[in-house]
Amino acid sequence: MSEKKASETPLIVTKDLSVHYRLRNNKLFGPPPVVRAVEGVNIEIAPGSFFGLVGESGSGKTTLGRALLRAAPISNGEITYNDGEVEYDIAHLDKVDLKEYRKRAQLIFQDPYAALSPRMTVRDIIAEPLEVMGITSSREETDARVREIATKCRLNLEHLRRFPHAFSGGQRQRISIARALVSAPKFVVADESVAALDVSIQADVLNLLKEIQQEMGLAFLFISHDLSVVAHVCDHVAVMYLGRLVETAPTRELFDNPRHPYTRALLSAIPSIDPDDRGKAQKLEGEIPSPTNPPPGCKFNTRCPYAVDICKQEEPKLDQSDDHAVACHRWQELMPS
Ligand code: SF4
Repeated sequence: MSEKKASETPLIVTKDLSVHYRLRNNKLFGPPPVVRAVEGVNIEIAPGSFFGLVGESGSGKTTLGRALLRAAPISNGEITYNDGEVEYDIAHLDKVDLKEYRKRAQLIFQDPYAALSPRMTVRDIIAEPLEVMGITSSREETDARVREIATKCRLNLEHLRRFPHAFSGGQRQRISIARALVSAPKFVVADESVAALDVSIQADVLNLLKEIQQEMGLAFLFISHDLSVVAHVCDHVAVMYLGRLVETAPTRELFDNPRHPYTRALLSAIPSIDPDDRGKAQKLEGEIPSPTNPPPGCKFNTRCPYAVDICKQEEPKLDQSDDHAVACHRWQELMPS
């Protein structure tokens, strides 16, 4: 890889990152089953970027997001965080550095109803990370930070004294966003953050995230199963299947020229308003295999209509020398001419 200027240094880099969980052994003999939730993932997330991570349920996206926050165990590989002020080897943080990292890397939860304590006022919910992490030293300073981030998240300051039950789903999600951003993080994992909202509210919250991202210079890892949402906000997209990255590209390029059969099936399932496109969806047959017993070769071979012998024997590598990378033995011959 060519030498990078300081401004191009990625915020997050993973090298061969794997997350495995050992399950309880119910068998009399043999080793306990291992869930290979994430396997050999290499990604780079630039500062101030909106990086989308897509795939079906069970593809490993949430586990990858949590590993980047050091909230899932890192079995193999490396994660490096470098924001120009500090550089951390995330797999080997000591207690002090982990506490510091928590200020710089935050999570926005999926469910705005379950994420907020019903017994705390909005002010206290947003202020809690400041107090727990020891970021502010007086109530006045905490209140000023809470008001500042609440304003950015378009919350009415009069509402800070109210409890979450008084708010709609969209307002609650804005409270969750304010809580995640109050420590002024540089990196935020947004895990299906608009999935629980009505479609009419989703655009509102997405626009808010995009505005805040640009204003605060944040990098987002935006996890979603909904490619139309990803197309709306992300600069770059990675597609996951059974714990592996199968394709990554700048968003426009991925949507215009998808190379992997799995990506094409996901894209063709997006509802279209063009009557000519209706009925063209490539249905994804079958279920995603179990991560405790993945098939040999290409992990998508059990559902891929183009699978041939080599697909069942050899796992295709993701060649990331190009900005548009794909892991498929046959992608070139399968591209429409
Ligand atoms: Fe399909 Fe083979 Fe490509 Fe896998 S490697 S996506 S099975 S064609």
